[in-house]
Amino acid sequence: MIKDMDLWEQTFQRIIREKKPHHRWKLKVDDNLEVKSLRPGWKQYTQKGLARFRCSLCGRSWVSAQVLILFWMCLKEPYGRVKMRVFAQRCQRCSTALFEEPEFSPEGIEKILGCLVVRILLKCYRESAGAPVPREDPLREILVAGPHDAGNCEACLVGISCPSQSDGKVSKALPRRPHNSAQYQQPASKRGKLLLLLSLCIVIVFVVLMVTLGVTGLL
Ligand SMILES: [Zn+2]
Ligand SMILES: [Zn+2]
Repeated sequence: MIKDMDLWEQTFQRIIREKKPHHRWKLKVDDNLEVKSLRPGWKQYTQKGLARFRCSLCGRSWVSAQVLILFWMCLKEPYGRVKMRVFAQRCQRCSTALFEEPEFSPEGIEKILGCLVVRILLKCYRESAGAPVPREDPLREILVAGPHDAGNCEACLVGISCPSQSDGKVSKALPRRPHNSAQYQQPASKRGKLLLLLSLCIVIVFVVLMVTLGVTGLL
């Protein structure tokens, strides 16, 4: 179960009622929600949020900006339903760690649900909200740029990838390095072979000259 569900529900009601005061929307948690099994009439939306985790075994806490939240949305006027699943993460240090539920700040919840309502207006009402999409905060950008521990991320383990920017950079940069050095070695070794050939020619010419001189000297 997600922590602070009351806060999620209250925040969602406040934002959606501002936009659609005559429609009744409900937000519910569904831990069995999957990306691939979307039912007809439902729209899907995934978002990443910033949250804190605490390991229940060792007490270590960590912050992740790659906490995946999956939403399903369905409108049958005047009623609307949202199902959400928040994906958990495991502690890196404990080998027998359990998946821990994320803890979002009230500002984080506000931001996530603000984006969700913009998506509801777009996908269910075909309205462009006109509202600016909330900007990423600097801390989130730094954390997104950091490596993502896919082995301890529930979303990654069930097949919803959370690619991080730095992961991409590393995988692209690594094969290039030996390739580049090989490219620079090739002209150098060719030059070496040419020099060896040239010096060999000089030696042969010198030997032939000496032999010729010796022969003519003898004659
Ligand atoms: Zn731990
Ligand atoms: Zn992941």
